[in-house]
Amino acid sequence: MTKNSDIVIVGGGLNGPALALALALAGFTVTVIDALPVKIRKNAGFDGRGYALALASKRLLNAIGIWPRVAQNAQPMYEIKVSDGHAGLGVSPFFMHFDHSDGVDSSPHDPMGFMLEDRYLRGAFLAAMKEHPAITQISGQTVVAQTLDPQGISVTLASGKVLRANLLIGSDGRASGTATRAGIRRTGWNYGQTALVCAIDHAMPHNGIAHQFFMPAGPLAILPLPGNRSSIVWSETTANAAAIHALSDADYLAVLRPRFGDFLGEISLAGQRFTYPLDLTLANAFVGERLALIGDAAHGMHPIAGQGLNADLRDVAALAHVLTHARQRGEDIAAQLTLDRYQQWRRFDTQSLAMITDLSNKLFSNGNPLLRLGRDLGMRAINAMPPLRRGLMREAAGLRGDLPDLMRE
Ligand SMILES: Cc1cc2nc3c(=O)[nH]c(=O)nc-3n(C[C@H](O)[C@H](O)[C@H](O)COP(=O)(O)OP(=O)(O)OC[C@H]3O[C@@H](n4cnc5c(N)ncnc54)[C@H](O)[C@@H]3O)c2cc1C
Repeated sequence: MTKNSDIVIVGGGLNGPALALALALAGFTVTVIDALPVKIRKNAGFDGRGYALALASKRLLNAIGIWPRVAQNAQPMYEIKVSDGHAGLGVSPFFMHFDHSDGVDSSPHDPMGFMLEDRYLRGAFLAAMKEHPAITQISGQTVVAQTLDPQGISVTLASGKVLRANLLIGSDGRASGTATRAGIRRTGWNYGQTALVCAIDHAMPHNGIAHQFFMPAGPLAILPLPGNRSSIVWSETTANAAAIHALSDADYLAVLRPRFGDFLGEISLAGQRFTYPLDLTLANAFVGERLALIGDAAHGMHPIAGQGLNADLRDVAALAHVLTHARQRGEDIAAQLTLDRYQQWRRFDTQSLAMITDLSNKLFSNGNPLLRLGRDLGMRAINAMPPLRRGLMREAAGLRGDLPDLMRE
């Protein structure tokens, strides 16, 4: 049976398209399959999430031609303020303040990162893939099986159609069927928390400042969007979140207001409200025979540090780097040695990040007065040490460590 393309990617969410574009630009032919029709994925109200994109992620998006398509809708983030908040009691005097003028990148004028709404990112990926002759998109088709043979790997769609390639990529999210079918098990747990997500209009400008308040039930992030609008990621215990989500818009706002505070003036809802159950899920291996996992299929973590998609895009850049260099050296892109290079690059990093987000959530989503005192003193100490603050900023910007080609400038 002939091969349809060099690489088949299952999952056309965010990371599948990013990898498809990176690989197509490097000269590979790629097929991207997603169970959802393009019409649904294009729908502006599809998700409602906003992403805090680190500078390294912006570099990747620029290199694969996405950034010019979304830049006008991206909101620069100039400052991040992190504090221990208590619903109704306002902000504690202990906080961390990260400012772009501390110099996260080469220029103090560069922002710390950007906020971008899901709908713009998704739309740009779909349009860019459509224009690239090396990418074939199959939408509205579920992959139900995968079969290895000595020279390739095939996937079977629910329609019965079979597609064959050298390498299969699982970019099919937290419940990755690609991983399950390859016998890759997962480790993780549920946080008993659910994120309430929405966009808010407010009377006063945010000046590009992001806020994170730590409440006993979970963190509340207020992230700047273009105009007088912010994206809210509000974590609550799952039972509380279900009750709050069931409220009318007016009652929802009445619960949010004391947590939000009045520093941005009067607030109102700007669109739909969403909920996301929060869990930690790590694939026990990121590669298998003729197969690699990226994005949420490899690791899903708590959004407390806003690093989920940034870690995913680092997988994309690292895998594109490994495969491109392997081909330039005349190696087999699906050889275990090649795939192991990707796994070694990414697995330890993502496990460490997942543990950090997990510990941060346990430490901060807690009303214990002793723990609160400890973390408040810790925040004050970090805030008083500019070199440590700058180190944390460079870490969050994704500019430390071994950078893949597509994340270098
Ligand atoms: C509340 C919340 C807030 C977040 N905020 C941030 C943030 O500020 N910054 C940040 O960096 N990250 C953030 N994240 C993380 C980010 O949303 C995820 O990392 C990202 O969406 C993962 O994308 P993905 O492409 O890997 O997976 P998904 O978006 O889950 O895409 C998987 C795709 O695979 C398809 N699929 C699945 N199975 C099959 C099959 N059998 N056949 C065909 N197709 C299939 C699905 O239809 C889907 O389109 C947040 C997450 C949450 C929950």
